[in-house]
Formats: sequence, structure tokens, C-alpha cells
Amino acid sequence: MDVVRIFDTTLRDGEQSPGFSMNTEDKIRLARQLAALNVDVIEAGFPIASKGDLEAVKRVALEVRNVPIAALARAKKQDVDAAIEALKPAAAPRLHVFLATSDLHLSAKLNMTREQALEAIGSMIRYGRQHVGEVEFSAEDAGRTDIDFLCQVCRIAVNAGATVLNLPDTVGYAVPEEYGAMFLKVREFLGDPQGITLSAHCHDDLGMAVANSLAAVRAGVRQIECTINGIGERAGNAALEEIVVALAVRKESFGVSTQIRLEELFPTSRMLTEITGAQVAPNKAVVGANAFAHEAGIHQDGIIKNPLTYEIISPQTVGVPARSLVLGKHSGRNALRLSLRDLGYEASDQELAEVYTRVTALADQSKQVRPRDIVAIAHEVIRRRPAAMAAESSSAA
Ligand code: MN
Repeated sequence: MDVVRIFDTTLRDGEQSPGFSMNTEDKIRLARQLAALNVDVIEAGFPIASKGDLEAVKRVALEVRNVPIAALARAKKQDVDAAIEALKPAAAPRLHVFLATSDLHLSAKLNMTREQALEAIGSMIRYGRQHVGEVEFSAEDAGRTDIDFLCQVCRIAVNAGATVLNLPDTVGYAVPEEYGAMFLKVREFLGDPQGITLSAHCHDDLGMAVANSLAAVRAGVRQIECTINGIGERAGNAALEEIVVALAVRKESFGVSTQIRLEELFPTSRMLTEITGAQVAPNKAVVGANAFAHEAGIHQDGIIKNPLTYEIISPQTVGVPARSLVLGKHSGRNALRLSLRDLGYEASDQELAEVYTRVTALADQSKQVRPRDIVAIAHEVIRRRPAAMAAESSSAA
């Protein structure tokens, strides 16, 4: 089965968005966790951006030896030199050179002609390859680049020595069918040369970053650039956790695998929120607080009988400690009995009825009932069973 490589850019594209900056120690801590998650590449920063960024890439490269480390550079000599310098300590360095290729970016932002762009791309990749074994090239705003010119760009990049071609939807404008078709055209033009990996990098401005990334996989892309919790410029990047779980849950549909240790997803997500102080939305897929919470009585009853009724992903698979049955006013008795059992109380039917009445009354006043509230009520209603009876009931079970 083909493997899709996961290129994590939480420390670069993620970190450069408002409210997500991290100090060097935090970056190292997160990079170690990304290694535990088993990502295939860690993009550690943009060394020309600041001395601090350059130092951070160096430190991450020194501390994390078992994952390739990438550093970003515009197709300019001073940028490439800074990235080469930052990558010196890396065990497996990857230079990531980019240049915008859409006519809009070339004329409005760079004041370059297409010919000048091709020249800069070829010469900077060749220069980079003299110093770093692996060079990736990104055609910024590829999603809005004339397809024939994009094909020329890719050929120049491959001839100059780039082995990874990343074609980003920089502004989150693409729709899945279009984005996939772009890769198919480039593949057809290049003729699928040996040793060249195509890569996707999507933004979520229209909420389609993950869908576009998955469409790229269907079109033969074997590297996806993404971030933990989907952080990144503007509306963010494609969320790593959503992509890898989608590929795992719908394996039969995609026919590819990743090397990600899924059980490290939730711990990684929580480490990032702890470092940045920016929480994920409760309803966020895979890692949101409510992703595995079931409040409606019918759902809770189903989950208790068979989790597959309302869960396509088990919480343990992605490293969530335990499924949370939130007790609110829509909850059922069955869920309450289970929660009581988790808390160490085995209730008789009569006791359960009384606890239930009091818990639902409390739920009417406040939005949800927390375990400590249940303990307080259960403590009053149910006398803890004598040890002999507890032993008896456990042997009976
Ligand atoms: Mn980006």
C-alpha cells in the first residue's frame, strides 16, 4: 500500500499566524512530540525572517535527530544561505525553496516576468542542491497559476534538482475537483519521473483545506503539508489530525496509509493548545472537547450498547483518555448508571431513580453536570456498599 508522507508545518506556517508564536523552548518541546507522532518531515521555521527563527531551526535540528528537518527560503540567495546555515546541524536536512508563480503574484507582488521567475527557480534550486541533499520547491499560489506555465515551472524545478514539488492552494481558493485535476495535468506533463514526490499544501479560507488535500491524494499526491489543530495563516492550514484520521477510517476508499501514530494525536493537539493558550473549538473534528462527548439520551444509550452506533472513531484510537458522557438534561438513566459505576457507585434501581431526579434538576439549572456534582449527589443518596457486598457483586459480574 502506498504511503502518504506527512509534512508538518505547525512550527512555520502555523507559528507565523497571529496568536500562535512560540519561543524556542516551546518549539523544541513540540518538535519532540511531533517526532513521537511520527511525522515524516518537520518544517521548523523561516530562517531569513529573524535571528530568532534561524536559531530556533538550528536548535530543533540539533535536538530532533530522527525526523527530517525542513527550513523555508524564498528563491533569493540571502534566504537560501540563511536556511543552509540553519540546517547545518540537521541529521536529515531539507531545503524548502519557494516562489510565487501566478501572474497576479508575479506582477503585483514580485514585479517579475515569467522568464525571470523560471531563472530564479532554476538557479536557486541548483545553488541549494550544492549544499543540501534534499530540495523541495513550492510554487506559491499554484492553485491560481496558469496550468501550462505551472508545468514549465515544475520541469525547471525537477531539472535543477528538486525532488519534492509542492503545489499549494496558498489562498484557499480551490475546490477539490479542480485541485486534483491540477495535479493530474502536472503528472501527465512530467510523465511521473522516478524519485519525484508531488505535495499538497492547502489553506482553509473556504473550509475546504482537508477536502482539497484528500482530493490531491486521489490524484496521486504522496506528501501533504498540514498543521496540528489546523493552525496557520488566516483561516489556517489543513488539519493534520483530520487528514490522517480520514485516511485511516476510510482506508478502503483511499487505498493509502500514513505512518502517523494516531494515539499521539490528542496529546499533540493538547500540547499545542497549552503552549499557545489558543483552544480548539469544542466541535472541532477529532480533537475538539465534544468530538467524543454524547449528551442526547438516545445517543448515550446507543454508545453504551455498541460504540459503533454513533462513533466512527474510537476515542482511544486518537489518544483521548476516556469517552465523556456529558450528563445534561437530555441524558438518560443508562448513562447515569455508567457514570456512577465509573465513580465507584453501584446504584439500586430506586437509588438510581433518586439520583437521576436530582441530577436532571441540577442540569436544568446549570448547563452540564460535572463528575464532582454527581459524586456529591451520589454520596448523599447512596451509602457506599460494605466491602463484603462489593466483593460479592464483583464476583457475580
Ligand atoms: Mn501556507
